[in-house]
Amino acid sequence: MSFDFFNPVKIHFGTDSLKDAGKIAKKYGTHALIVTGKSSMQKSGVLDKLVKILKDEGINSIVFSDITPNPTIDEIDAAAKLAKEKNIDLIIGLGGGSPLDSSKAIAVAAKGNIPVWDYLKIQPKGALPIITIVSTSGTGSEVNRFSVMTNTKTGEKPGFGYECMYPKEAIIDPVIMQSMPKYVTATTGFDVFVHVLEAYTGKISNPIADSYCEKAFALLRESFIAACNEPENIKARSDMAIASALAGLAIDSAGVGIIHALEHPVSGNFPNIAHGAGLAALIIASMELNIKDKTCREKYAKVAHIFGNIKGNKTEEDMAYELIETVKKILSDVGLNAKLKDLGVSEDKLEKISKEAFTTMNFAVLNNPVVLGEKEALELLKDSF
Ligand code: NDP
Ligand code: MN
Repeated sequence: MSFDFFNPVKIHFGTDSLKDAGKIAKKYGTHALIVTGKSSMQKSGVLDKLVKILKDEGINSIVFSDITPNPTIDEIDAAAKLAKEKNIDLIIGLGGGSPLDSSKAIAVAAKGNIPVWDYLKIQPKGALPIITIVSTSGTGSEVNRFSVMTNTKTGEKPGFGYECMYPKEAIIDPVIMQSMPKYVTATTGFDVFVHVLEAYTGKISNPIADSYCEKAFALLRESFIAACNEPENIKARSDMAIASALAGLAIDSAGVGIIHALEHPVSGNFPNIAHGAGLAALIIASMELNIKDKTCREKYAKVAHIFGNIKGNKTEEDMAYELIETVKKILSDVGLNAKLKDLGVSEDKLEKISKEAFTTMNFAVLNNPVVLGEKEALELLKDSF
């Protein structure tokens, strides 16, 4: 066995840790671009609070609030242009995975002279320093190097990540997550589950990432449903925030698999679909495929143990199948039962989606426990339709 594990992100976790944003930011710059979405952080008052906290430490900030869920390269290039015009020296991502992913891509594009899309092929020379302040428990983007962006002309939605894209520091304040509505809590929380499931069972899984996954599974068991049903439950919000970070660290070294490889083209071609809802539609057919792999089956059995619903004498295989039932129950408990068709995917796009999994997310296809080609991927999409 051989593996690499690296993560340079300084994590500040705690209720009201937002208050430290000024002191943290001051280490890196004096002219910050705050990258956020169109409304949630304005409505909850967190954006105004952040601007004031920064000002109190002598940091000027400009707000770019045009980031949409499943962010586009046009939004990112526009923000990078603004950053250059205003001599920005620090990028602060505030929000869910969409603003955080965008902040990393903007930090790269603002340092260079080419459109952000070109960095998929060209290694960037560097990036402006990045600070993440996360508002969903979700993507893990707060602690990893990955960024996901959509090319609206083609529908392609690749993920990429260079070492210069690691945030310098991450602020994880569960109070910010209390304003998430049930559907956002469910879709983003389910993303955490799929990150750990795919990192735990992937070809490049490793013991360090595995231990993070096991802790994240336990936290999900404890608090996912409570977070969905009791938005102000700070213990549940904290558990989910830690699970999100653990999962983000796990996928940084152990990668994702076919569920993510297929979901990216789903929400790339149908940007109104939440990433976690797409994952939910794809998971059962994917698990039914992957369970055929012996190593994956062993890992599924271990996860079933963590979820602890095992009654009577069961073989490893029984337990692995039990996990599929557990996942079905979680989906039903949190209200994520929609198939691809219910989410608005049209059948004539399934072939394009299956092809794009191999062109834009091939590293995830290759990491999947079971090897599959375009034909099998298309079957899987049809089963999830
Ligand atoms: P988004 O950042 O897209 O946010 C989803 C919705 O939730 C938006 O409408 C947003 O509003 C709202 N919202 C966010 N936080 C709050 C809050 N605290 N209270 C109320 N509403 C809130 O969601 P995700 O976090 O799921 O990010 C998804 C993106 O991340 C996708 O593009 C996905 O592909 C990518 N991703 C990245 C990964 C990585 O490793 N970097 C891994 C997995 C996915 P508003 O827009 O107004 O802020
Ligand atoms: Mn994800």
